[in-house]
Amino acid sequence: MTGNDDGFLLQTEGLSKHYPVRRTPLEQARREPEQALKAVDGVSVGVRAGQTLGVVGETGSGKSTLGRLLLRLETPTGGDIRYEGESILTPTRQRSAQLRQRIQIILQDPYSTLNPYQSVSKSIEEVLVVHGDLSRSGRRDEAIRLLETVAFPADLADQRPDQLSGGGRQRVSIARALAVRPRLIVADEPVSALDVSVQAQVLNLFEKLRAELGLAYVFITHDLAVVRRLSDRIAVMYLGRVVEEASTIDLFRRPLHPYTKALLDAAPDLDTTRQARTPALTGDMPNAITPPSGCVFHPRCPQAMDICRRVVPVTIRPSPERTVACHLHTGPPATHNELPTPNPAEEPHP
Ligand code: SF4
Repeated sequence: MTGNDDGFLLQTEGLSKHYPVRRTPLEQARREPEQALKAVDGVSVGVRAGQTLGVVGETGSGKSTLGRLLLRLETPTGGDIRYEGESILTPTRQRSAQLRQRIQIILQDPYSTLNPYQSVSKSIEEVLVVHGDLSRSGRRDEAIRLLETVAFPADLADQRPDQLSGGGRQRVSIARALAVRPRLIVADEPVSALDVSVQAQVLNLFEKLRAELGLAYVFITHDLAVVRRLSDRIAVMYLGRVVEEASTIDLFRRPLHPYTKALLDAAPDLDTTRQARTPALTGDMPNAITPPSGCVFHPRCPQAMDICRRVVPVTIRPSPERTVACHLHTGPPATHNELPTPNPAEEPHP
């Protein structure tokens, strides 16, 4: 593929992060093969400008590693990441600086991005230095304006992070991210440490900023209610792979993968319009170093068949706008960047 003719702002293609696992002396003596922890394994997803891609899965599904790869905080062991159609894995110094501005991160714990000894205003002003045209007083004014954008009281601008509530700190970290005028924010569990009432306020803020600034988000969370509210599309991850990806409406109305169905059924207060329900998810996520054979979900899958224990399901496109990797759904393999080929079985009969 060349250029950005698919319309993605940020896109991954077969992205992988495998961590080598050191063998014990006994394993070396036995000449046992090298092993790797496949934290992210062949992930192809994309987000368009002004849209939100939700990434959901349990702890250990690889969603946070995917986020760090998108921010280039980790180096992939395979695949590609493209921003506006251009690979960003080996950027020039200038391009690297540009990407640091265009893609920002919001984490669950704002403490990790805020200096505890610095006032709220100063922590934003130091970021504003990238805009070389602002004087010292101009930076202060801009910091106050950004705080007002995120509905943070300007009269608290000289407080330190430890003097703020959790919601206040998260608003400050959002204002700080906005200071470099990003186009995309990778938000990793940004509201999961907040009280439910504060969560709603911060989610409102994310929605408002998207509408006003045209921001795109990759929203990483274990909370289906959160992704449902914010996302245009949702990718469901299990043991490092995307097992299903669809529009939010399609995913909630008709989940195809048994893992997605189990997640939806396990979510306490989701008003889904689906008819069929599957048994709740049981068991734990398997070890990513020695994953199960065939479909890695088979030990927990209520619909597992014999083939599931032997053959890894390929990702197919059962309809133009969604993908799934499950033997219950057969069809031609999905190619992420090409015009999808619908499964004839799902085409309307003439
Ligand atoms: Fe279940 Fe088989 Fe589908 Fe895996 S491939 S999710 S085990 S039905």
